[in-house]
Amino acid sequence: MSKATDELFKNVISHAKEYGFVFQSSEIYDGLSAVYDYGQNGSELKNNLKTYWWKAMVQMHENIVGIDAAIFMHPTTWKASGHVDGFSDPMIDNKDSKKRYRADQLLEDKIAKYEADGKTDKAAALQAAMDDALKAENLPRLKELIVEQEIACPVSGTRNWTDVRQFNLMFSTQMGAVADDADVVYLRPETAQGIFVNYLNVQKSGRMKIPFGIAQIGKAFRNEVIARQFIIRMREFEQMEMQFFVRPGTQKEWFNQWKEERLKWHLALSIDPAKYRFHEHTKLAHYADAAYDIEFEFPFGFKEVEGIHSRTDFDLSQHQKFSGKKMQYFDPEVNPETNQPYGNYIPYVIETSIGLDRLFLLTLVSAYEEEDLSTAEKQDSRTVLRLHPCLAPVKAAIFPLTKKDGLPEKAREIMDKLKLDYNIQYEEKDAIGKRYRRQDAIGTPFCITVDHQTLEDDTVTIRYRDTMSQERVAAADLERIIGNLVSWKNLLK
Ligand code: ATP
Repeated sequence: MSKATDELFKNVISHAKEYGFVFQSSEIYDGLSAVYDYGQNGSELKNNLKTYWWKAMVQMHENIVGIDAAIFMHPTTWKASGHVDGFSDPMIDNKDSKKRYRADQLLEDKIAKYEADGKTDKAAALQAAMDDALKAENLPRLKELIVEQEIACPVSGTRNWTDVRQFNLMFSTQMGAVADDADVVYLRPETAQGIFVNYLNVQKSGRMKIPFGIAQIGKAFRNEVIARQFIIRMREFEQMEMQFFVRPGTQKEWFNQWKEERLKWHLALSIDPAKYRFHEHTKLAHYADAAYDIEFEFPFGFKEVEGIHSRTDFDLSQHQKFSGKKMQYFDPEVNPETNQPYGNYIPYVIETSIGLDRLFLLTLVSAYEEEDLSTAEKQDSRTVLRLHPCLAPVKAAIFPLTKKDGLPEKAREIMDKLKLDYNIQYEEKDAIGKRYRRQDAIGTPFCITVDHQTLEDDTVTIRYRDTMSQERVAAADLERIIGNLVSWKNLLK
């Protein structure tokens, strides 16, 4: 990361704190590692991002419905899904610093260094050796590579490493009063399983016909070995997932369709398309037959924001096996090749899984601008969040020009009408210019000023965040003007 982008990213993080977007959890106790809280503006932005996703996925698709499953699930769920045995990262400790690292990430850092130095052959060779070792789950080989590459601990500077071990990422706790093994429950590491175990409930109660999807937004928990890059890698985070159930044999077609549709959803936010790319998985998860990530170029490089996975019939078959309950769907449609109904089968699944916190950071980083407004006469600048109006935490701010002459009352009268539909803020402190700057900093698209003329002719000035231009409009027109720009139609068309 160059010094300038490093600086910019630091500024975004402090801006997020200063303006009530993101706080470190339990900050008064020095924080809890990789856990964050969303403040008054952050939670509004996050809710708007959820709404955008929910509307695009559920409301815009007749064959997709949404659910809200519990975080706790029967422990056998996680045996069936493979998480008890397989959801782990290879970790290694430095004996001198006592710091713990992910073995694959130490090697990835080395590969990145080779690439930065133009040693592409060495980078490719190490990548291949690491992929082989990960695929074969050959932990001694991973250690060997770390030793061969002479990788030292960034903290102690020594190469005094332990062996590589697998570390399960699931958090567990106990349910009920008696603490024995039978009561161990996990905090879900992904929301997907809540969908799989409910697939027949939804299919039957909703009379859903294949292909159909089930969407869900909710918290997930992973005891990440190392946490870094702010809200990119958290121990408690939120996912927006959709599982799409399809006829076996059609998964490739649906996979390609969802890949395109999800990228389109991102691009509708009007963020520079050059910042997005697809990344194909070479090492597939145990359940997948194809997987792509949508990556976004953060200031620290490209990072996965969303995964699109072809999960085969793995999960439903496993749940059928472990629960003894049939997971089959009866497909009455006639197969033109056999002239018979397709009949009973376990559906295949295409998953789209996006991390809400990574999407939040992507949105914030893209919207943040330190704008130089200097003229020949005077130096000036502002920090502005150019958020899409649909996503802005506050849709409009309303200012009485002064605190007297009935202007506050008039301003509140206008606000009382607008607040029924939109999140509106009222501010009467400080000069108007200062109030504009505060609203720019949280991305409010409109500021409305009520002055003495308003009392005479019911007009107000509306000032636009992006252009900073102002115009005089009838107060009665505000609802229409704001409504047009913050309408979800602008994103969903
Ligand atoms: P990574 O390789 O970065 O650990 P992953 O491949 O494990 O991610 P998935 O299991 O595919 O991630 O989860 C789907 C999405 O959930 C990811 O694209 C990401 O946006 C989000 N996500 C996963 N782990 C975290 C985390 N620890 N903190 C925040 N978001 C996360």
